[in-house]
Amino acid sequence: MSQKKAVIIGAGIAGIATAIRLAVKGYKVEVFEANGYPGGKLSEIEQDGYRFDAGPSLFTMPQYVDELFKLAGKNPADYFSYQKLDVVCKYFYEDGTRISAFADTRQFAGEIENKTGEPAASVIKHLANSADIYSITNHVFLERSLHRLQTYLRIDTLRSILRFPKIDPFRTMHKANKTGFKDKRVVQLFDRYATYNGSNPYQAPATLNVIPHLEQHFGAYFPDGGMYSITQKLVKLAEELGVKFYYNSRVDEIVVINGKTKGIRSNDQNIMADMVISNMDVWFTYTRLLSKYPQLHPKKILNQERSSSALIFYWGIKKQFASLDLHNIFFSADYEAEFDHIWERQDIFHDPTVYVNISSKLKPDDAPPGCENWFVMINVPANNGQDWDKLIAGARGRIADKLSSVLGEDITSLIVNESVLDPRSIESRTSSYKGSIYGTSSNNQFAAFLRHANQSSKVKGLYFCGGSVHPGGGIPLCLLSAKIVSGLIN
Ligand code: FAD
Repeated sequence: MSQKKAVIIGAGIAGIATAIRLAVKGYKVEVFEANGYPGGKLSEIEQDGYRFDAGPSLFTMPQYVDELFKLAGKNPADYFSYQKLDVVCKYFYEDGTRISAFADTRQFAGEIENKTGEPAASVIKHLANSADIYSITNHVFLERSLHRLQTYLRIDTLRSILRFPKIDPFRTMHKANKTGFKDKRVVQLFDRYATYNGSNPYQAPATLNVIPHLEQHFGAYFPDGGMYSITQKLVKLAEELGVKFYYNSRVDEIVVINGKTKGIRSNDQNIMADMVISNMDVWFTYTRLLSKYPQLHPKKILNQERSSSALIFYWGIKKQFASLDLHNIFFSADYEAEFDHIWERQDIFHDPTVYVNISSKLKPDDAPPGCENWFVMINVPANNGQDWDKLIAGARGRIADKLSSVLGEDITSLIVNESVLDPRSIESRTSSYKGSIYGTSSNNQFAAFLRHANQSSKVKGLYFCGGSVHPGGGIPLCLLSAKIVSGLIN
């Protein structure tokens, strides 16, 4: 039998992982990528002697990356190494409180008790609840297709359905956290996990309280070569397995004949294939690549609320700060108002929560000696045509003022170079609709069931992977989408 051919649209992390899985299965795989480089959001930028990871900075569930090397019969350590963080994040509050989120759960709970008076036992209880939600949802909702009958006929699915109330889908995350903790700083710390998939803790179901378990139990890591090395090492593996990557090759159309995909159209050429896997945002997959077939568009799914986006300043800083770590959060004094601005008013709050990631803390060659590379990010609404230039100019000054006041240094005078990523450039660089960074939001309890499936129900041979489809955004879930897709292909 001749070798079957799969074409993948996009070399984001999910596209690369799908390519590896299908190559291991014996398929001939070709990946068409619009940019001149792989990785999509998981890419890097160089700036006058400073290197920055452009998008993701928090690395969790490294076992999903290792699994790809093992699947190919390789030793992951020969390709890719990473270290576990002892301190996952440093939190700075406007009232002067500083909390170190230690990886060790007892130490973390003790730190919270020492700094806020919230009993360590409440933190331990919260994390135990988080572990319970994980045990109910993991195999059923994250690792399998929710759109196949077989999933629901499995005994572990039935067991999970019986334990459904335990996942707390009918309260908001904030409400659950407010009930579990007395101290509002601790509520804020745990509410923040909703932002890990671009959602709003005041609307999202308390099921999202599963997220701390991923970070606290499985740990947070830093790849020795920086986040971009995840992309680089997986592309290397894929190429060794015979996968062909075509860069600067935007796909313009998915060719469908008689309800079956026949391949794609890119650079005015037809490329035939037995199956097509789109790693492009599902909204654009339909509206751009399948624009000839409006009858195929799943309108309800496409019209769901999008996740939030981000505004990032990449600042070369000519100084080092001993008080800062790899991950640092400077909280807003009014979290509810901040989310109200992002979700209801669709603008930027005057006192946003600021995330500062400094990879040169662990990878010193990311900045010149004595300097640091600051990735400074705030959550912002998806792009709905706001006056971003005006919003960005205002936010820049206020972010610098906030950091200056907490750190006791004039930050603006320490910035030696700068570039900016905003919802518009996220959209144009990665074809992510409205610049949303995690596809659709998880602001309601049905979101997990409403994400687009990994396989088309109308076009034979058409599959979907990546952050805009099941099971959702973020590197670990994107890697799981690749696993689900390859499981659907025989
Ligand atoms: P994408 O990265 O969206 O890539 C899609 C690729 O497809 C792109 O390369 C694009 O050019 C290509 N493409 C699109 N259309 C076409 C076409 N027509 N033809 C050819 N190619 C096409 N996740 C975490 O786990 N931890 C974090 O800390 C984290 N922080 C983040 C911070 C930021 C600022 C951003 C932007 C994202 C962050 N994420 C984080 C989310 C994470 O980056 C994404 O969920 C994940 O990388 C998305 O991968 P993907 O496979 O869906 O593809």
